[in-house]
Amino acid sequence: MLDADFFRRWMATTAASVEREAERLTALDSAIGDADHGSNLQRGFTAVRAALEKEAPDTPGAVLVLAGRQLISTVGGASGPLYGTLLRRTGKALGDEAEVSEEELAEALRAGVDGVMALGGAAPGDKTMIDALVPAVDALGEGFAAARAAAEEGAMATVPLQARKGRASYLGERSIGHQDPGATSSALLIASLQEAAEGGR
Ligand SMILES: [Mg+2]
Repeated sequence: MLDADFFRRWMATTAASVEREAERLTALDSAIGDADHGSNLQRGFTAVRAALEKEAPDTPGAVLVLAGRQLISTVGGASGPLYGTLLRRTGKALGDEAEVSEEELAEALRAGVDGVMALGGAAPGDKTMIDALVPAVDALGEGFAAARAAAEEGAMATVPLQARKGRASYLGERSIGHQDPGATSSALLIASLQEAAEGGR
């Protein structure tokens, strides 16, 4: 079972990996966007970490709802509302249980991803974060390592795609040949799930 500590570790691990990869995320975003994805997410997850320390929410759902709210209020552009919605919806779907199963997390994350698709209007293949998140959620039933591999594969599979949503879509065919920054950061979020699980053992 996964408790609030696990979810706090997940957010802390994500914050650390976003910090480590911020330059790479910004470089990817400078190729097909406006070169702020790394710094935006870094600011957001720094705020998430601070809020979790200050408010110390004690259920899995409350951890994610608080994290999502921080991202919405501190990250500009599209990625704040999209990531915020992902975590807030997932948190709401987890309810107020003290512990949740991996199956319940998979179901809740699916609700979160559906929320992102509804907000952003993106479908798989549009070269967005959805291309990492949908395969990850599909694979989550086989465990965190499988979800991580699926997310990383999904992010890499955005390279040959032409962007159909977000700022990159303004580039048309010139968006082809670049890995999507949002799919890349989404893969970091999913990889952090596995690291959080290992950190608790
Ligand atoms: Mg950007």
